[in-house]
Amino acid sequence: MSESYVFYQGKVVKEDEVKISVRSKAFNYGLGVFEGIRAYWDEENEQLYGFKMKEHYKRLKQSAKTVNLNFDLTIDQLIQGTVELLKKNNCRQTTYIRPIVYNDAPDISPALDKPDVKVVIYTQPLNKYAGKPELSVGVTSWRRLTDNQLPPRTKATAAYLNSALAALETKQAGFDEAIFLTDANHVCEGSGENVFLYKKGKLITPPPSDNILEGITRDLVMKLAKEELGIEVVERSVARTELYAADEVFFSGTAMEVTPIVAVDHRTVGTGHEGELCKKIKELFFDITIGRNPKYADSCTPVYEESKAF
Ligand code: PMP
Repeated sequence: MSESYVFYQGKVVKEDEVKISVRSKAFNYGLGVFEGIRAYWDEENEQLYGFKMKEHYKRLKQSAKTVNLNFDLTIDQLIQGTVELLKKNNCRQTTYIRPIVYNDAPDISPALDKPDVKVVIYTQPLNKYAGKPELSVGVTSWRRLTDNQLPPRTKATAAYLNSALAALETKQAGFDEAIFLTDANHVCEGSGENVFLYKKGKLITPPPSDNILEGITRDLVMKLAKEELGIEVVERSVARTELYAADEVFFSGTAMEVTPIVAVDHRTVGTGHEGELCKKIKELFFDITIGRNPKYADSCTPVYEESKAF
């Protein structure tokens, strides 16, 4: 296996040079925030595109600020470091990029006022995440964290125990994924993705005030529906059984991309197969990820200087 590199404290270094102590607050208390970014491989032009990197690093900085994990790297430096890392790891397939900002102080207490903040980024190949093209999901009995407990919009490491419990419960019950409700019993999101419903010609998705992570893919899906397909998009609270009665339901997310949901709590959604709207959004989405749509060219950061496209 070829050597793996990571971006650590501002430099690309060999992965095995980075050690995390068993005493680290990140390990003991989950004091960290992170991102999930994709870089898409365009086979035809032999080019890799970092997708929406600026938006992801902006969200990382915002998450870090909210929980007092302050660090100096700018968004441009994070993007440059990621490009350098992708090249160094010779990534020539669709790749997942995982930046983590964490508190590495070794003393015992879950304190966020210690200055020992570190930034690491690693990469791994990731083609399809969902495992299947159409999903059957279940509403979990675990409720989504609220903004005043552990703000879901910070993409905090610790928040993913909430996600993992929901995913475990629904997988053990035979579903592919979970959908969370909020404390007020509104539909929230999946364990790692946002949710959309299509009903009576409108695309509906829960609002940020219902404790969702404000997904970068969610933003793009809303824009595509409005601007490319002329569909009205509504951000509003959604009741559980609206999922059962929708014409279409689908997930959006960096790892999950745009994936149709064909059953919720064993109730068939729409025709029981991927809907037309989801199909159209997926087509638009995948074209954009590999730089094929000039209107959205700024979503893509080319990694290699020499590609057939240039
Ligand atoms: N919700 C949660 C809880 C997530 O972890 C993710 C993945 N980052 C999303 C939604 C989707 O967000 P994005 O489209 O920015 O990946």
